[in-house]
Amino acid sequence: MAPAASFAAAYQPHIGLEIHVQLITASKVFCQCRNAFGDRPNENVCPVCLGYPGILPALNSEAVLGAYVLARALGCTLSTRTVFERKNYFYPDLPKNYQISQFGAPVGRDGAFTAEIDGLRAPVGIREVHLEEDAGKMIHAGDISLLDYNRTGTPLVEVVTQPELTSATAAEQFLEEFRRTVRFLGVCDGNMEQGSLRCDANVSVNRAGAGLGNKVEIKNLNSFKFVRNALAFEIGRQTAILEEGGAVRVETRLWNENRDCTEPMRVKESEDDYRYFPEPDLPPFCPDEPFFAAVEERLVELPLARRDRLREQYAVTAQQAAFLTAEPDTAEFFERTVAAGGDASLAARWLGADIRGYLNQRRETLAGSHLTPERLAALLAMLNSGAVSGKIAKQVLAKVIAEDRDPDAVVEEDGLRQVTDAGVLRPILERIVADNPRVAAQIAAGERKPAGFLMGQVMRHTAGRAHPDQVHALIDALYEPAQNGESNDRD
Ligand code: ADP
Ligand code: ZN
Ligand code: MG
Repeated sequence: MAPAASFAAAYQPHIGLEIHVQLITASKVFCQCRNAFGDRPNENVCPVCLGYPGILPALNSEAVLGAYVLARALGCTLSTRTVFERKNYFYPDLPKNYQISQFGAPVGRDGAFTAEIDGLRAPVGIREVHLEEDAGKMIHAGDISLLDYNRTGTPLVEVVTQPELTSATAAEQFLEEFRRTVRFLGVCDGNMEQGSLRCDANVSVNRAGAGLGNKVEIKNLNSFKFVRNALAFEIGRQTAILEEGGAVRVETRLWNENRDCTEPMRVKESEDDYRYFPEPDLPPFCPDEPFFAAVEERLVELPLARRDRLREQYAVTAQQAAFLTAEPDTAEFFERTVAAGGDASLAARWLGADIRGYLNQRRETLAGSHLTPERLAALLAMLNSGAVSGKIAKQVLAKVIAEDRDPDAVVEEDGLRQVTDAGVLRPILERIVADNPRVAAQIAAGERKPAGFLMGQVMRHTAGRAHPDQVHALIDALYEPAQNGESNDRD
């Protein structure tokens, strides 16, 4: 457990993240191999990504575009001459013994990214954004280790923040907004379980006002929970050391998810250890005007801005706006539904509740389901006009999704239109009264008690399609002959 920090207020944590973003591209960053998760181990490899002698890397333009798009969205100054460099180190998952990365001239520098943290918005400085290749994956199985080189050479963008985050939960909220952002930009799928998005968290604690303390780097955190728990533990551990008058050792640690603590991994290597030098087989990348134009074209409204606009433009609640902008597909679906004539408030409500629930149950996504914005708009229109009741609308929704049919067709063909016609409803009601002599007697005596029973029966006989207001009126009419009699139950 985290050591208790009794004078925590006197100490100030500083956190900087190094976020690794796997880019969505068809092929790897320096060769033609497929960039995909989950294929058979070592299926997507070639001499280039396996680092055979004499091979030549070639830069994937899709990857470099993705890196620039992200750097631009993070407000960075974009490099007009970006240089690839070799970062030298040995590890079994790195067959070349060096990683092609960037050091002196990365894609972007000096940006800022704003997330809402505990309800407040503060920009966090982005130190740099660079493009590199990912390493392979080592799988430890008992006393043997297996190597899968499918991931070797897949395009990875590293985003380095300034040490401006000040709590574990702030870092978590920042990363959540960051994840939404890369997904809205379409540069990364944000799948943390599969490692598409992961981060190293750097954290130091110092006496408040005394600047940055000695830093510990926690490697390879691949869930929001790990980020939060590892940082909370580490802040507690460092604070306790300082309180006892000790000094925090600068080192790299790992989060042990089984024991809920960080453990030392190695003493931090310095940049010199990597002996960076320019990659001789790749020329510097010097983007031209058309390239920068292509970057601009890929920019989108970021989720935080979209959240604000949805609230403003459609008067949805803060909670609804947050749900609608949690996934780019949901925001798109919502706005297209409104554009197709759907009621905004109803659309927000249905997307957040019934539609979400039903799709979850079927393990389907909004984009992959048979519901379309046009179909939802049509359904909500029928609900608004009273053509169907709320309860029936839910049945129609289920049929639209399960049977790939238009809501109008479902309502007409399956006879689900709400029944308002008194000529249809009155005989049903009269029949029910006739079949229940006790009820008939109560009505004759002017008692209101059977009204609820009658409503329920009419609904049963019409499979829920009777318009409740119309049924109410018809029930009231039953009492008219007894109107001047003693009405004991009326208040
Ligand atoms: P390194 O020498 O480990 O490469 P950098 O200065 O490149 O360190 O920073 C790496 C990350 O660590 C950045 O996100 C940065 O904000 C963060 N960082 C640097 N110094 C500190 C510190 N004293 N406390 C917390 N985070 C820090
Ligand atoms: Zn390859
Ligand atoms: Mg560094």
